[in-house]
Amino acid sequence: MPCIINCHTHLFTFNHVPVKFITGQRLLASTTAGRVRLARVLHKLIPWKDDGKLDRLAVFLTNGNVASQEEVFSRLCMFYPSDARFAVHSIDFDYMGAGKAPKPFTQQLSELALLKQKFPQKLYPFFCADPRRPDLFELFRRYIEEENFTGIKLYPSLGFFPFDERLYPLYEYAQKYNLPVTTHCSASGPVFGRNIPPPKERIHPKTQEVMNYSSKKQFGDHYTDPDNYLWLLKDFPQLKLCFAHFGGDAQCIKYYKSNDPIEIQNNWFVKVLKMLRSFPHTYSDISYAGADMDLLALFSALLHDREVSHKVLFGSDYYMSNLERNERWFSMNVRMGLGEESYMKIAHDNAVKFLNILE
Ligand SMILES: [Zn+2]
Repeated sequence: MPCIINCHTHLFTFNHVPVKFITGQRLLASTTAGRVRLARVLHKLIPWKDDGKLDRLAVFLTNGNVASQEEVFSRLCMFYPSDARFAVHSIDFDYMGAGKAPKPFTQQLSELALLKQKFPQKLYPFFCADPRRPDLFELFRRYIEEENFTGIKLYPSLGFFPFDERLYPLYEYAQKYNLPVTTHCSASGPVFGRNIPPPKERIHPKTQEVMNYSSKKQFGDHYTDPDNYLWLLKDFPQLKLCFAHFGGDAQCIKYYKSNDPIEIQNNWFVKVLKMLRSFPHTYSDISYAGADMDLLALFSALLHDREVSHKVLFGSDYYMSNLERNERWFSMNVRMGLGEESYMKIAHDNAVKFLNILE
């Protein structure tokens, strides 16, 4: 039986996230009694929300509050067969404008490198590239060449365009050595840069469109828009690039239910699908979005489309997806919903190719 490969997981703890970004709830979640109290407080504060969701929030906070990335990893492994493998995406929170994290990004990376040494066949770390980091290329090359990292993670909503030329040396390297790049591609997510750009940076460098937004989240979406990759892929047409989340669960649902042609045309799921059909080495993963049972029919249809079926990857977005579903529920329902053949295609065949795993 081929092994299951989850192409999208996270292990960082709340200690790797800026203090201003995580609220005081982390303290409440630090003990069992605290977690019970937290769930109770949340139920009282938001009585009209369904109870399950609040309990899942408490579980999410518990996962983020553990002491080490290794502990998060051992919790993740518990939900899968012993030969399962995991792509682990680091996130560089240092430049998002939310202050300092107790542990800087470089520490997140060095901890992941130790885990890679400990679990070389099980863990495939991705280096998160933020163009605002000085000496980015040197740091990236060190982690790829000396620490056996697998690929690159991008998180544009933290405040940069994916075609930022400071990232070009990394793309050149990735294209040359066929390294996978996964970019966060979900509209209106909760993670975005906390600074409003100065006026001279509010003009889209390619379209010259003026970004007249009042909220930081809107700027985050503007950086993340799948259309931005047209310029990147024009310069790096052979780049192996995965659009995570298929544009996001909300966009997938909108596409599923919309009758409005304009809305469909601007839908991020549609834009991602267009990318998959237009560029030979592009992929997308069902992480987070697969937690919505309604969407499994949509993904199932894609897996019977010969143009894209080899470009879809299984990922869960552990433990972010715990806000929607427990990990076991996620993986087992996706498997049942898609059927064994399609599931093994995305959770093994396509993943082996994407991650360059030699069998
Ligand atoms: Zn993620």
